[in-house]
Amino acid sequence: MAALLRAGLLVLALLWACGVQARPAIWQQQDALVLDDPHAAERWTQHELAAARVAGDVDAEFWLLLGAASVQDQLEDTPAQLALLHQAEALMNAWPGAGELHKAWLAQAMILADLREKPAAEIAARIAALRRQIEPLEASDLQCELASLDMWAMVYAGNNDEAWVAGEALERCAHAVGSLDQEVSALLQLGSLTSQVSGKVPAAGKGEDYFRRALALLGDRPARFMRSLLEWQLGNALVYSRQLQQARDHYEAALVLSRDLQDEAGIAAALIKVGERVLDDGNAEASLSMARDAQALMEAQHNEGRLMAAHVLVLRSLTALRRPDVLQAIEQARPLDAPERIASRRIELATAMAEGFASQGLYAKAYAELTRANLLRNEAKETLRDSQMLRLQARYEGARLDAENADLRRRSETAHLELVAQAATRRALWAALLALLVMLAGAAVLVVRGWRKRRHLAELALRDELTGLPNRRAIKAAGEAQLAQARQWQLPFSVALIDLDHFKQVNDRLGHAAGDAVLQALAAAAGRVLRGQDRLGRLGGEEFLLLMPGTTLSELNAVFDRLRATFAACEIAGLPSPHGVRFSMGGAEWQPGTDSLAALIDAADQALYVSKAAGRDQLSLAEPATVLLRMAVPA
Ligand code: GH3
Ligand code: MG
Ligand code: MG
Repeated sequence: MAALLRAGLLVLALLWACGVQARPAIWQQQDALVLDDPHAAERWTQHELAAARVAGDVDAEFWLLLGAASVQDQLEDTPAQLALLHQAEALMNAWPGAGELHKAWLAQAMILADLREKPAAEIAARIAALRRQIEPLEASDLQCELASLDMWAMVYAGNNDEAWVAGEALERCAHAVGSLDQEVSALLQLGSLTSQVSGKVPAAGKGEDYFRRALALLGDRPARFMRSLLEWQLGNALVYSRQLQQARDHYEAALVLSRDLQDEAGIAAALIKVGERVLDDGNAEASLSMARDAQALMEAQHNEGRLMAAHVLVLRSLTALRRPDVLQAIEQARPLDAPERIASRRIELATAMAEGFASQGLYAKAYAELTRANLLRNEAKETLRDSQMLRLQARYEGARLDAENADLRRRSETAHLELVAQAATRRALWAALLALLVMLAGAAVLVVRGWRKRRHLAELALRDELTGLPNRRAIKAAGEAQLAQARQWQLPFSVALIDLDHFKQVNDRLGHAAGDAVLQALAAAAGRVLRGQDRLGRLGGEEFLLLMPGTTLSELNAVFDRLRATFAACEIAGLPSPHGVRFSMGGAEWQPGTDSLAALIDAADQALYVSKAAGRDQLSLAEPATVLLRMAVPA
């Protein structure tokens, strides 16, 4: 950053070498006077101003008004300074002869007047605008003024590193254009910054060295005013290096010079500093008296900044004296604590108030003030960051973009991390959900399996394992249901018993497995020939029960013939083809008035017995009367 600025300065120095001297000649006399005695300079400009007005020289009047304002700036009389600038502005607006230089110098003077009071952001923006305004003017003096504004803006914003860089620019610029007062002013500020800059700026010598260099530069020139400032600052530098006795000597030298010049701001500033030394030496009565003097002077001048410093010393002195009227002094100081005041002064004041309260045992109030001081410290850090950003904006668009990009990168990284975190959370949720689904699915599988198993078991309980037909229990239950239905709707319902002929011989000759195959073949044949509503079940052994709802006895012959033919045509493993196995059948039809399935089956069994007895391989039908009889006389 500093290196960049240095490169820029080299270019600027070249510009200055061939640049136009834009500073009005009329200021030369005044510039010299200000170094020695601003009040004398003030009187001189007032005199010249009157003369210019008499002569009707608007141009001279304008420059003298600006000059007079700059004198008031040195005297720290901001209201007087602003009044003069508003006169100059009114004059310029009403005067067609005003050019770009007039406008630029007025803008510069206005910024200078507002530096202490206006927010850093506004000042930075106005300096940036002025920089653009003077670029085409090739006015080297104005370039120096710009560096000066930069420096002061940074000083008031509390941005010491940047103030340092701008101070060095001012020193070079002033040296190049031969402006003694600006060069001394630059050294003055650089010296006071040495104790406050960070390690980022190249090692500034000791502060005292800058002030001594400036004093040397002044030589034996009449420069009491500037010497008073330098002595005062030298005192500060010596306090910083803990040379307290020497510091007090220089503050006292500044006080003598300021009194000689009747420079009230200077007197007050020196009184406060001498007072601080005196207080540290344990003489609170003396420091209080000096602080009260400074207070009175600054009140008369409405110099609020220095007035705050005076109040701080009053409070510290009263605290040291443990005087109860410190509470009154605190309340008197309070209105000075306005947000537009410099943060460091506000922090000092709040701290002094806290100590005052504590000295009177008002610890809660003391604590509140200390808290406020801490808040102000944090705010000051924020402002510092703001002003750094604004300076970057004004001077280095590229650097600003870099800074912004870095910020964006940081933000996008943050956003990215947030997204990653969110994604992780989502993933965890999905995983949990998935686990839940897996568990549910597993549970469902188990439920289905259990259900299937139960159903399978239930089926096993109702099905004959060998033939796959309904077993005895199942076919009898089905028979009961059919019988109930037949009874309800008065529909025909027939049953038949089927028994394989000489089955024992099949087993005996061909083996049990062949016998099993015969049983399976009969079941398969029945499956092919029976109608949808008919049911065949295995009662046991080689005996089967056939249920035929909606069927009268007369239809059983056809059923028997179809089943007989189909079964006879079956290929049966282990048996010759044709296999030659036959069966006998006995049928019975339900008669209205009969209630029992057992009776019906019994009637069919009688008919079957008839078939067997009649030579097998045939159907016999129970007479309806027989059926009724069997019902009437249960076995
Ligand atoms: P009939 O013509 O008079 O009915 O003579 P049958 O030999 O068929 O009658 P019987 O009641 O004397 O013999 C039945 C045989 O059926 C006895 C038994 O070995 C056989 N049997 C019973 N259940 C099964 C079975 O599940 N598998 C096999 N292979 N044989 C069985
Ligand atoms: Mg049998
Ligand atoms: Mg048999």
